[in-house]
Amino acid sequence: MISVFGSANMDLVAYVSEAPKRGETVTGQRFRTVPGGKGANQAIAAARAGARVAFLGAVGDDGFGAEMRATLAEAGVDVRGLRQVPGPSGIAHIVVDDAGGNSIIVVPGANGTITGPSGDDLAAIARSSALLLQLELPMEAVVAGAQAAQVAGVPVFLTPAPARPLPPELVGAVTTIVPNEHEAAAITGVTGADAALEALLEQVEEVVITLGSDGALYGSRSGRRLRVPAVKVKAVDTTAAGDTFVGALAVARHSEGMDMADALRFASAAAALSVQREGASTSMPTRIEIENSMP
Ligand code: ADP
Repeated sequence: MISVFGSANMDLVAYVSEAPKRGETVTGQRFRTVPGGKGANQAIAAARAGARVAFLGAVGDDGFGAEMRATLAEAGVDVRGLRQVPGPSGIAHIVVDDAGGNSIIVVPGANGTITGPSGDDLAAIARSSALLLQLELPMEAVVAGAQAAQVAGVPVFLTPAPARPLPPELVGAVTTIVPNEHEAAAITGVTGADAALEALLEQVEEVVITLGSDGALYGSRSGRRLRVPAVKVKAVDTTAAGDTFVGALAVARHSEGMDMADALRFASAAAALSVQREGASTSMPTRIEIENSMP
C-alpha cells in the first residue's frame, strides 16, 4: 500500500481572454470545478497506476469536501483517513487567460488545520511500502509525517512544491526528492538541472528532477545517474504532470519493486498520457492505458 499525506483542494477554474485588473470586472468564457490539490492528485495517480492507496488528509464540512471524498473513492483510493473538519475545504482559485497564462490563489482551508498525522495515520504510514508528501500542508505536519515514516523504515517521496525552504529535519527523513527544474533551482540556489541534482544529493539519498517535455534526470548517492526522455506527445494541459509522474513512480518502484530505470520509464509514460488531457484528477491514466502506451 502507498500512503499519501497531503492536500485536497477544489480547483475553481475560470477561463477569460484577459485576467481582470484591480477594480475591474470581466466576463469569462467558461468555468469548471475540478478536484485537485497535490496530495489528492498523487493519490489518484497512484491508484489509477495500479496500487492500493490510502489518502490521509482533511476536507471541510462543505459540498467541495463531499465531492473530493467521492472523487478519491471513485478512483479506488482508501479515504478512511480523510477527515472532515468544521469550516471550508481548501480551494485553488485559478484564472486562465487566452495566452494560456494563469494566476492562482490557494486558500488552504481544512488542509491548514492539519498539524501532524493522527494515531490512525501513523498506523497506516507504518504499514505502507512508501509515503508520498508535498508542501501544501503546514510544514510541521509534513515534517512529522516524514519522521513517522523514517522511524517505521518506510521510504518517503517528497515533491517540494510549492517551493519553500526545507527544514533540515525534513530533508533528513526524505528518501527520494522529486522537484521540477524550477523547484530544484529554488531549493538549491543552483542553476542547471545537473548541478542542482548534485547539490540535492548532498542532502538526500535519491533525486529525480523532472524537466517537462525534456524528461527527467535521476541520481543516487550510490553514484547511479539516469536520464529519461519524455514521450513525444502533443501536450494539451500539463497541470499535474508532475503529480502523475510521482504517483506512478512510487507504485512502480515500491509497490512492484521495479528497477529505477524501468520505474522512470513507467512514470514518464503515465505523465505523457496525462498531458494529453485537460485537468488534474481528470487527466490521469489507468494501468492498462500506461501499459498499452509503453514501447
Ligand atoms: P510539474 O508538472 O511538476 O511542473 P514537469 O513539467 O517537469 O513537472 O513534468 C513532469 C513529467 O511529466 C516530466 O518529467 C515528463 O515525463 C512529463 N511531461 C511534462 N510535460 C510533458 C510534455 N509536454 N510531453 C511529454 N511529457 C511531459
